[in-house]
Amino acid sequence: MPATTLDQLVSLAKRRGFIFPSSEIYGGLQGVFDYGPLGVELKNNIIASWWRTNVYEREDMEGLDAAILMNPLVWKYSGHEETFVDPMVDCRNCKLRWRADQIAGKCPNCGSTDLTEARPFNMMFKTQVGPVADPSSFAYLRPETAQGIFVNFANVLATTNRKLPFGIAQVGKGFRNEINPRNHLFRVREFDMLEIEYFVMPGTDEEWHERWLEDRLRWWQSIGISRERLQVYEQKPDELAHYAKRTFDLLYYYPTLGFQEIEGIANRTDYDLGSHSRDQASLGLTARPNPNSQSTARLTYFDTATNRHVVPFVIEPSMGVGRCFLAVLAEAYDEQMVKAPPADKLAAVADALAAFLKSVSKNEKVGAEARDALIERGQAIADGLPEALPQVETLLAMPGADQIELGKKLRGQTQPVADEFFRTVLRFKPQIAPIKTAVFPLKRNHEGLVSLAKNIRRSLQASGRMRAVYDDTGAIGRLYRRQDEIGTPFCLTVDFQSLEDQTVTVRDRDTMAQKRVSVGELKQYLEDRT
Ligand code: ATP
Repeated sequence: MPATTLDQLVSLAKRRGFIFPSSEIYGGLQGVFDYGPLGVELKNNIIASWWRTNVYEREDMEGLDAAILMNPLVWKYSGHEETFVDPMVDCRNCKLRWRADQIAGKCPNCGSTDLTEARPFNMMFKTQVGPVADPSSFAYLRPETAQGIFVNFANVLATTNRKLPFGIAQVGKGFRNEINPRNHLFRVREFDMLEIEYFVMPGTDEEWHERWLEDRLRWWQSIGISRERLQVYEQKPDELAHYAKRTFDLLYYYPTLGFQEIEGIANRTDYDLGSHSRDQASLGLTARPNPNSQSTARLTYFDTATNRHVVPFVIEPSMGVGRCFLAVLAEAYDEQMVKAPPADKLAAVADALAAFLKSVSKNEKVGAEARDALIERGQAIADGLPEALPQVETLLAMPGADQIELGKKLRGQTQPVADEFFRTVLRFKPQIAPIKTAVFPLKRNHEGLVSLAKNIRRSLQASGRMRAVYDDTGAIGRLYRRQDEIGTPFCLTVDFQSLEDQTVTVRDRDTMAQKRVSVGELKQYLEDRT
């Protein structure tokens, strides 16, 4: 059964070390998260796949890594100082601040309609540069990586001798002071962006825009996102950013959230190169950027066919790694009933769940909102038994559940059944799985088995191609389940036969089928499949 709520993903991500709230021991920082040991592997694999597809496997791309801090003039002429703003209202009753376009005139916290007028709020973070805090010594943390590409356009052109069309790819942190960060990694204040600025001859931009849309849809599918859960939304004229002529949003169907933007693919015209150029009047721009009196360069391309300077148009596919990460988790998540639990055990779980929900409905200590959420969720689980049984764990992690004494009994009834008859599997594409293989000795106190298993792990890891781990902290069945839950595609078990014939059991995550492979062929076997 796939994930039906975002909570299931969030709870797995926390439990298994994918994602932690930032500075959690001090209560966290809203809208900021840390990637744990598995999270960093998954994130790096997503980025590597993107880079491979968009830089290495194409003829027309270069890479760049520009700094986060830039001369503030960049943000003046890019238009961000003036227009990178959300209309915002304050609730006069509870003092919370909201984005005006998201709340329909009513405070989502306290329900009050006593709101201030909407006022613009600039989403760029400011920081001081140098030891003296005078008004001129500041910089912004970039809200997008794109501007680092535009202001380096002439540098890249001069050093690579590229001809149009060509693009520049960049991966790096972006910062936005979002008014209401929420939904875990979906809306945060600090995030990794993967951006391409693709420069084309004016007049060919619409065709390239469509081609990039197709290329990007192909990439999303290559990392395991199903086409049915992707939608292309074309922005309406009044939704377009100040630089865009046309924008496609790719939307992904997230559990709980429904269809939401996962990537934007914009036709930015000649706005950006034009806005950072001097002598704009002589450039024949179609866009209308603010006049620039401070740039020292003309960001143009000399077209030898026509013997004239042109300002290229730009197609920009832009995505954030966090929204991709959540989508990949959602897509991979599966709670599978391995065999049907016997009726008496199931009945005991159903009874414990019913008793728990009854206790929730009578408990005064749990707030009304939390109580309703628990009951709604618990009822959905009760109706979905036996398949929904593993979701009891997520139910017990919801706010207020820890106040209910009967929660312990419910967990006690459910956990052994979940362990024996169910498994949670992350069916990642092997290419992006955080751990490619885990090696187990059949017995942890047998020196021959342990040393062969450790040697195999070491030699696989030494190839530099994959993350391989060793584990001997439980029975093999339990170790398999643990790796299933983090999406490891292959588990290797070293047993007594291994000591005789130098073969190990390779167990496939998805089919659970096992076969023997000789130790000498393991590296190739795994490299071909991950
Ligand atoms: P939204 O309308 O959701 O605020 P946006 O249209 O401002 O997003 P873009 O400026 O197009 O977003 O940013 C490009 C991509 O960067 C988005 O498609 C998304 O994947 C990611 N992104 C933008 N803002 C955030 C954020 N606050 N947290 C996480 N990812 C983000």
